Amino acid sequence: MPDARKTALVVSAHAADFVWRAGGAIALYSSRGYRVRILCLSYGERGESQGAWKQPGMTIERVKQIRCAESTRAAEILGAEIHFFDSGDYPIQPSDETIEQMVIEYRDLQPEFVLTHSFLDPYNPDHATANRVTLETRVYAQALGYPVPGKPLGAPPVFIFEPHQPEQCEFKPQVLLDVTPVWEVKQKAMRSMEAQTHLWEYYTDLGKRRGTQAVRNGGPKGIQYAEAFQRVYPQVTDQLS
Ligand SMILES: [Zn+2]
Repeated sequence: MPDARKTALVVSAHAADFVWRAGGAIALYSSRGYRVRILCLSYGERGESQGAWKQPGMTIERVKQIRCAESTRAAEILGAEIHFFDSGDYPIQPSDETIEQMVIEYRDLQPEFVLTHSFLDPYNPDHATANRVTLETRVYAQALGYPVPGKPLGAPPVFIFEPHQPEQCEFKPQVLLDVTPVWEVKQKAMRSMEAQTHLWEYYTDLGKRRGTQAVRNGGPKGIQYAEAFQRVYPQVTDQLS
């Protein structure tokens, strides 16, 4: 029987990025019955695996295995599917085949919305690569003449999730998503990322700050945790609210 669930697509440069930046959104939509699919371009084996590299006798293959296992577990906790492309790290260099596969992913999934990285990130150029690839393949998936199977894509909105240092990445928090109901799930997913324990507290504090801002911006008083997003394309509406 075909899967009739609504869907969402998350493109993560490295193995853990989706957990810190969008774990709440993923858990929330999963709890609402969405099929959430994460595409991970890289295991982050060179750049974002400091904890793993501190262990004696570590090898690149072992780091990849550790990061793959951690991310798979985190995705499972959040209620999402995950697929890895293993496109290298520092730099991520997606092959032509990976680009085609991503177009096929878009066409298969027909997502209601897409989450990915910011246009700029002076701390990690791979994040900008992930943004570019996400937007490029979305456009290819819309093109009737692009030669891969599947129904051409409509125009799902793309939201940029919050980078680690938002100001330097020219990130604007235009959307604050209340993730209070699934905060414990995000917390559990964050704690499963054992190579980056230093980020647990940081992202908990950020969630609280965005939650406070959500209330200040007119959200219900009960909001305790939120995640910030920026739109890439205009929102289409018949109401200015
Ligand atoms: Zn990253």
